[in-house]
Amino acid sequence: MNRRICWCGNHDLLSFNAEYGKCSNCGTLVSVDGLTEQELQPSGDEEGFYGKRYWLDHQKKDLGFPDIFARSRSDLVDRNLYWLKILLKYRLPSAKVLELGCSHGSFVRMMRQAGYDASGLELSPWVVEFARNTFDVPVSMGPIEDLELEPATLDVVVLMDVLEHLPDPERTMGHALRLLKPDGLLLVQTPQFNGEGVYEDLVKSESAFQGMLRPDEHIYLFTEESARRLFAGLGANHVTFEPAVFYQHDMFFVVSRQPIVPVESEKATEALASTPTGRFVQAMLDLDERVKALSEHVKVIDADRAERLEQIHKLTAMVHEAQGIRGRIIGR
Ligand SMILES: [Zn+2]
Repeated sequence: MNRRICWCGNHDLLSFNAEYGKCSNCGTLVSVDGLTEQELQPSGDEEGFYGKRYWLDHQKKDLGFPDIFARSRSDLVDRNLYWLKILLKYRLPSAKVLELGCSHGSFVRMMRQAGYDASGLELSPWVVEFARNTFDVPVSMGPIEDLELEPATLDVVVLMDVLEHLPDPERTMGHALRLLKPDGLLLVQTPQFNGEGVYEDLVKSESAFQGMLRPDEHIYLFTEESARRLFAGLGANHVTFEPAVFYQHDMFFVVSRQPIVPVESEKATEALASTPTGRFVQAMLDLDERVKALSEHVKVIDADRAERLEQIHKLTAMVHEAQGIRGRIIGR
């Protein structure tokens, strides 16, 4: 089996662990001999790596994640709402958005509810059907390279947990950028390698990033800097990092060939208020804010309670001490 080289073209990989090497040029972690590009290719008969088994067995049995049925419910509040907030921050509905690797399609649905002209893309017929049936969303099949779409027609391409799976990230991201209008955006969530240390350090510090070391599917694990390099090499020099939902092991960023300008938040509110489904999305966002405010409030109450409890303990100790002294005086 050929050992894989880095996406940046460098062959010199420093030893990291049995499965991964660290690129001496750009710092990306490279899965050295995971599955080949051919083995990762989608296939119409569901035999490919990302076929039905990936969604039904691998995710649950091998990785311990909830299955696609559970995820199609929980992702809406666990992550989709957060992604939507970031999207609303940078591009308003009715922008044209494509989500690569849309899985069950809940985020495509949420974007459509918000008023975006959103569609998805997946690699296996089974999951494409699942998304269409579950969320009634337009989903195409195949890698983006095969998609029949006019260049420079999309406003946003969304890739959540996709970049690390790509056997040739330069080629695929180059293609995504060509489909974008000149001021178009890529929204990317991917694991973040901090670029430092060796595997043993991750184990010692019980780092959540260890869970990202899945050599068969996570081919390239980027650092902030190496991700910048990948996109800069493709002419997209503007990168804005946002906090990641799963900040323990991920990074989240917006990329463009032109300067990235956030939209005014009032404009997003207006856009959501302009359609009935947008109003439901706004209600979800409002509820999310309330939950956040409430959990902050609970934190303050907890801290206050802990402080009072400590005072009570101190006072009790003082009373016991005083009682002891009194006892000794009376006993004399
Ligand atoms: Zn490299």
